[in-house]
Amino acid sequence: MEYSTLADRYEKLEAVASKLAKADIIGEFLKSIPSYELPKIVLLLQGRVYPSYSENELGIATQMMIKSISKASGFSAAKVEEIFKRTGDLGLTAEQCVKSKRQASLLKKKLTTDNVFENLQKLATIAGQGSQDKKFSLIAELIISAQPKEARYIVRTVLGELRIGAAEGIIRDAIVKAFLADEKSSKEEKEKATEAVENAWSLLNDYGEVAKIANEKGIKGLQKVGIQLGKPIQVMLGLAAEKIEDVVKEFGEIIAEYKYDGMRVVVEKKGNHFWLFTRRQEDVTKQFPDIVELAKKCLKADECIVEGEVLGIDTKTGYPLPFQAMSQRVHRKYDIDRLVKEIPVQVNLFDVMYVNGTPLFNEPLIERRKELARILKPIKGKFQLAKHIITGDVKKLEQFYGDAVEGKQEGLMLKVPNAPYVFGRHVGTMYKIKPVMENLDLVIIGAIWGEGGRTKWLTSYELACRDPNTGKFLSCGMMSTGLNEDEYELMTKELKKIIISENGKIVIVKPKIVLEVGYQEIQKSPNYESGFGLRFPRFVRVRDDKGPDEADTITRVKKLYSSQGKAG
Ligand code: AMP
Repeated sequence: MEYSTLADRYEKLEAVASKLAKADIIGEFLKSIPSYELPKIVLLLQGRVYPSYSENELGIATQMMIKSISKASGFSAAKVEEIFKRTGDLGLTAEQCVKSKRQASLLKKKLTTDNVFENLQKLATIAGQGSQDKKFSLIAELIISAQPKEARYIVRTVLGELRIGAAEGIIRDAIVKAFLADEKSSKEEKEKATEAVENAWSLLNDYGEVAKIANEKGIKGLQKVGIQLGKPIQVMLGLAAEKIEDVVKEFGEIIAEYKYDGMRVVVEKKGNHFWLFTRRQEDVTKQFPDIVELAKKCLKADECIVEGEVLGIDTKTGYPLPFQAMSQRVHRKYDIDRLVKEIPVQVNLFDVMYVNGTPLFNEPLIERRKELARILKPIKGKFQLAKHIITGDVKKLEQFYGDAVEGKQEGLMLKVPNAPYVFGRHVGTMYKIKPVMENLDLVIIGAIWGEGGRTKWLTSYELACRDPNTGKFLSCGMMSTGLNEDEYELMTKELKKIIISENGKIVIVKPKIVLEVGYQEIQKSPNYESGFGLRFPRFVRVRDDKGPDEADTITRVKKLYSSQGKAG
């Protein structure tokens, strides 16, 4: 397909706001695409060239893009930067630059989606000495070959911000519309089709593949998609509960487990092959050779998928290390052996979804736990079952909760014994209870350069909560305390990669980084888009296990505000 055909669709999608209209446009488009092209085109529609679980990242920062546009268009970097300041969008900047260059477009070879896709994939694989230069040339070449509109979308895809609003839910609905249900279908038929798409997606994590199966094999084919060892799954998520009593009242006897404050891990085993995935489907197998060794010794089934929480352990006290320890291990790509020794881990398992060819996710949790105990040869303190009790006695549960907190764990998870494992959803059968309810997970949407000795760092951060209805991020004010110098340095480095626009000392960034934030009080505030502001906000930690789509919502902020007893 010519890339310009795709660019036209991008433009159409950008021009409409409603989710329904977007799903219609994409649905119609998908229908016209031959099956073999679907995987690539669906990824491109999502602004990606790798599925979300892939380790590959394009790794292009704003400054490099400015340089590439400058090289491709012949404008100076300063001029490109000036246009960028005006448009606030490097895609539009590239479009303007290419347009003004007035190169005889007849001489240009037509770009195809294959060309663009393959070249962008290449970007992620360029590493080592001189890699920045190579990446820079590759992007510049693509821009040189592009028509103005194509340049807009190539640049945005490289930067990972396509801005056409094709969120996952919309792609899902579009696949349903294109291949599985039309206007004439009943509500039930549409729901069945949507469920089949979601089922396949939660196991494949790639809407491109899902679209191809939907087109070729329909609902039945999607329902048949099974567990694929070596690919990540979408984990099941819980809800917050205020009191143990409330959960017991609703469900009676429950399985209560320690809630460990570490990193969720899905361990997949196929013979001698092991894979470790995080809650966000990142492959962290290389970072944790110690967990692989433990899994080799302790998991008795030939094939299985189990799930648990990994803690870093303080060798002196035996207590869990703060969450940041795990974070260090996740992000370390070199010198791993040293870190294995410095931050030893403990894996606490709490679920199993698959054993030796049999999927278990439709089995009740209580049965899954029995199976987990059966296939596990635990090593105490290293690779073991999560601590748990099964009871409907509130007093016993309160006691167990006290033990958990005293043992420096985060709290409890309360789980309904007959609940199945539902991939990728927040379910009403699993609740977390934590002593400190008020911390919020908020997204950085802007920042300000520091003053005095701190001018080289971005030191104040504009925080925002999420509006689940629109997907927008609503400001809740600024935060600038709680970080040490190393943290400012690191944060500045990360934020610089995602700057959208800069005006004097103020920068706007792509909503990407989630912070856990403590504060004294939530106040009503007309100054911020959310209508609320935080009094004395302070940095607690980076929630690098959460994406912006998992940040706290405006609903939770309102609820916490009301629970302060000041609603009105
Ligand atoms: P939160 O991150 O506060 O939304 O809490 C949910 C997270 O708690 C999960 O994603 C797990 O990483 C973690 N967790 C710790 N212990 C357990 C447990 N026993 N069962 C399920 N999740 C747990």
